[in-house]
Amino acid sequence: PESHVTNFVRDVIEADIAAGKLTSEQVVTRFPPEPNGYLHVGHAKSICLNFGLAQSFGGQCNLRFDDTNPGKEDQEYVDAIMEDVRWLGFQWAGEVRYASDYFDQFYAWAQELIGKGLAYVCDLSPEQASEYRGWATQPGKPSPFRERSAEENLDLLERMKNGEFDEGSRVLRAKIDMASPNMNLRDPILYRIRKQSHHQTGDKWCIYPSYDFSHGQEDALEGVTHSICTLEFADHRPLYEWFLENLSVPAKPRQYEFGRLNLDYTVTSKRKLKRLVDENHVAGWDDPRMPTIHGMRRRGFSARAIRNFCGSLPVAKSDGVVSIAQFESAVRDDLDKHAPRAMAVLNPLKLVIENYAEGKQENLKAANHPKEDMGERELPFTREIYIDASDFNEDSSLSRKKFKRLVLGDYVRLRGAYVIKANRVEHNAAGEPTTVFCELVENTVGEDPPEGIKPRGVIHWVSASAGVKATIRVYDRLFLNASPDKGEEDFLTHINPDALKILDNCWIEPSLATAAPEASFQFEREGYFVADRFDHSASAPVFNMTIGLRDSWSD
Ligand code: ATP
Ligand code: MG
Ligand code: MG
Repeated sequence: PESHVTNFVRDVIEADIAAGKLTSEQVVTRFPPEPNGYLHVGHAKSICLNFGLAQSFGGQCNLRFDDTNPGKEDQEYVDAIMEDVRWLGFQWAGEVRYASDYFDQFYAWAQELIGKGLAYVCDLSPEQASEYRGWATQPGKPSPFRERSAEENLDLLERMKNGEFDEGSRVLRAKIDMASPNMNLRDPILYRIRKQSHHQTGDKWCIYPSYDFSHGQEDALEGVTHSICTLEFADHRPLYEWFLENLSVPAKPRQYEFGRLNLDYTVTSKRKLKRLVDENHVAGWDDPRMPTIHGMRRRGFSARAIRNFCGSLPVAKSDGVVSIAQFESAVRDDLDKHAPRAMAVLNPLKLVIENYAEGKQENLKAANHPKEDMGERELPFTREIYIDASDFNEDSSLSRKKFKRLVLGDYVRLRGAYVIKANRVEHNAAGEPTTVFCELVENTVGEDPPEGIKPRGVIHWVSASAGVKATIRVYDRLFLNASPDKGEEDFLTHINPDALKILDNCWIEPSLATAAPEASFQFEREGYFVADRFDHSASAPVFNMTIGLRDSWSD
């Protein structure tokens, strides 16, 4: 499907190849996450784009951790990100790379800039520096430290590196243009002092390079040919190119910016997702309500569905908001084709089939999929079964058109089994039905009932004696507002308090209890569900609802 969808980066690469700038196999891309949180659905788009392009051209894609901010980074995130990329079905070229692998080289490049009179150590406080920088419509003022000699700058930089100065007391800046209308060129920061241990380099460094002073050079060192980032970096491109022009780099990568993926009803910012986790609004980064790759996986979205969705989106030079319904529809299409069918009762009501012998059990056969060849399973039928309470009504005057389920005195078909009729009902003290006494019509498994008997509809069921009790977690959208983080108010005010319901008295057919963790099913008439990756076991089955059978939000 990918090739029918607009992708301007692919067009650029094709043109570069046609112009003889490089061969198809020489295409090198990279996916450069900062390990400061778990990846989300927006990152999935970037992964599919970068790895997908490398794959389709027969080139390579690197996984590189942009780890220049030790205070916010952690090995836990490094590990989770590697797991996500692999789970999505991609493999990076060679070893994983880290920006921190290149810290010695960056330091040498900083010295090179100083030697060329293109960088200086600045002692302005952050507040003063911002005042000197001015604003876009008005030129800034040069820092009083701008004309320091190369010798003095080299000495100060070395002493910064040796830990002689406090955090925030000095920075290394490029000497570019304090009057540039592009604020990024007003002597941007190259190095700042951070007395923090780093997850890769430990305590070796106490100065760390900025994003701008590292990204293009990392690309150059790795031979990246097409460096793809999101639109907010368009204004950084002149700076990206300035470093490549002024440093002795081994290659000249080019940066291209595309529109980030935004989904309605969804927050895609690691910082905000981290707040949801830290403030216990969700159970963790992999909570099925989270738009993280870990969360979507646990929710039962397949890697294939996520890839299909990302591949269906244009890669364009403008931002836009994609409807979550479009994503859910891709997930539903994938599950419809690939998920076996099974039966589960979420809100049980007991039926006793009085003309079926006690202790008798027939193992009926049921197809696992209506269209795909997925074989069949055994479906035990017994005297006592459960149906969903919403599939029964005592009011026998309900029209057949309106209520195609079981009513007192009428017939219904049990999916894959007999036609039955409800005869009488027992109630609890609150007047709710507790048991419905029924009779079955002989010889109706896979056969039409005799003349005159017309079942109202088909309902699902589970044997009470052969079925297994299960916990089912039903999920809904995490936010009630279509743009939870675009308003004045805190995005947390839009949380949906009912986004998780735990049903702990569900009944599932026995074949489901032995399902492997992460196996997905369509529970007939209910939706798609997945055996929980961590909590599910045959003796205590736990399923997560992935998505309903149809889009209930746009009805
Ligand atoms: P966040 O703002 O969520 O922290 P980020 O851009 O800071 O995201 P990085 O770890 O730096 O996170 O991102 C790695 C790559 O993923 C970058 O190339 C970035 O452009 C891309 N990316 C991040 N968010 C999105 C998104 N919503 N859509 C497309 N690509 C994205
Ligand atoms: Mg970033
Ligand atoms: Mg970020």
